[in-house]
Amino acid sequence: MTNFVAMPGSLGPWKGGRFSGGTCVLAGNPGPMTLDGTNTWVLAADADSVVLVDPGPDDRAHLAAVERELAGRWVREILLTHGHADHSEGAGLFSGQFAAPVRALDPAHRLGDEGLTDGEVLVHADLEVHIVGTPGHTSDSVSMHLPQRAALLTGDTILGRGTTVVAHPDGRLGDYLASLRELSDLVQTAGATQVWPGHGPVLPDAAAALTAYLDHRHARLEEVAAVLESADPDAGIEATAQQIVEQVYADVPQVLWPAARLSVRAQLEYLGRV
Ligand SMILES: [Zn+2]
Repeated sequence: MTNFVAMPGSLGPWKGGRFSGGTCVLAGNPGPMTLDGTNTWVLAADADSVVLVDPGPDDRAHLAAVERELAGRWVREILLTHGHADHSEGAGLFSGQFAAPVRALDPAHRLGDEGLTDGEVLVHADLEVHIVGTPGHTSDSVSMHLPQRAALLTGDTILGRGTTVVAHPDGRLGDYLASLRELSDLVQTAGATQVWPGHGPVLPDAAAALTAYLDHRHARLEEVAAVLESADPDAGIEATAQQIVEQVYADVPQVLWPAARLSVRAQLEYLGRV
């Protein structure tokens, strides 16, 4: 979540689908904060088994769709990019169905003994998953680099369309910018890499997506700083945030303004205006 501004990417309807070494099963939870719905990723480990990333909402129709995609293969484990309900809520359902542990950075979202840590490499038969801590959207956000697939699973850190919310106060803009820079360094080193996002379509060029995201964030910060110069310094933080949303996010549908206000609060904190 969420789609604040048109960014380069596929404009056609997104339905999920098969990619080299991974399949996206799109959950039936579309909305202003979830775009087309949550992407659940099925990563083949070998001919008989898979790893599941972000099981999505607690939804039996979605579980049935994932089961069809599995075609009899077993689920080794379930990984979460972060704890937001639209990604994690179905973890229990899937875990029970497949007797698979659920691994996440935040212990509150785990089922079983093992979590995820920044820098960890998970090896499952022919699949390597490199965990990259990418706080910012939330404090518990991770991305997953799949070097053999030339893909970067980003959860809500990078979306297939638009930009994400920095969910103040848990999400922090300084962390988010550092995470984008870390991912940018990673893909420069790793070479051509796709983005497999938590919502919206696959992006063909992770380096280009990261450059666009960083440019967008810096442009927004400049716009916010410009509004602050003329804002009443004695206005409360909520009133200032609302004024910024109305001026800087005027092009964003009003249904998304509460989410925009969270990103603005994160921007204000980043600029030292708490
Ligand atoms: Zn999220």
